[in-house]
Amino acid sequence: MQAGQTGHYVLSTIHTIDSIEVITRLKKMGVSNYDISSTLATSVSQRLVRKVCPNCSVERDFNEKEIEIIRKIGNKYGIEFDLNGKKTYTTKGCKECNNTGYYGRIGIFEILMVTDEIKELIAKDASSLEIKAAALKQTYRPLIIDGIEKVLKGITTIDELDRKLAIF
Ligand SMILES: [Zn+2]
Repeated sequence: MQAGQTGHYVLSTIHTIDSIEVITRLKKMGVSNYDISSTLATSVSQRLVRKVCPNCSVERDFNEKEIEIIRKIGNKYGIEFDLNGKKTYTTKGCKECNNTGYYGRIGIFEILMVTDEIKELIAKDASSLEIKAAALKQTYRPLIIDGIEKVLKGITTIDELDRKLAIF
């Protein structure tokens, strides 16, 4: 934080559940609201999810439960996911993927841009919820949204997202 305050470009990692909780964590570490609001520029959160094995996965339509989950998450964040013609995969398991049904991993991301409005909220000691509500009106999209987009692209599955983010 001290290096950042003097104008240095600092990249650092911190373990929190999402990009917004970074603010709470910094506060708990004793950084003042003023210092966070004037120093923090961007916060990125990432989670690794497993990719479906291209060797043994079987393409299928989304089932009702999955569609309901996707719609529910979309409604929560005011996003209408286009499920038209979208397919998902049943993972089976083979020699290539060590019988797990998944092969390799990919990151899902969310980015909190600390805009003037967010800076003001941090300076006013706003809660994570208030900051999240304001961020959602800007460019912030939660991890789960990037996750669902990667499910709709057939890269990973709803089950895997649930394993990583507990969405059910
Ligand atoms: Zn496989």
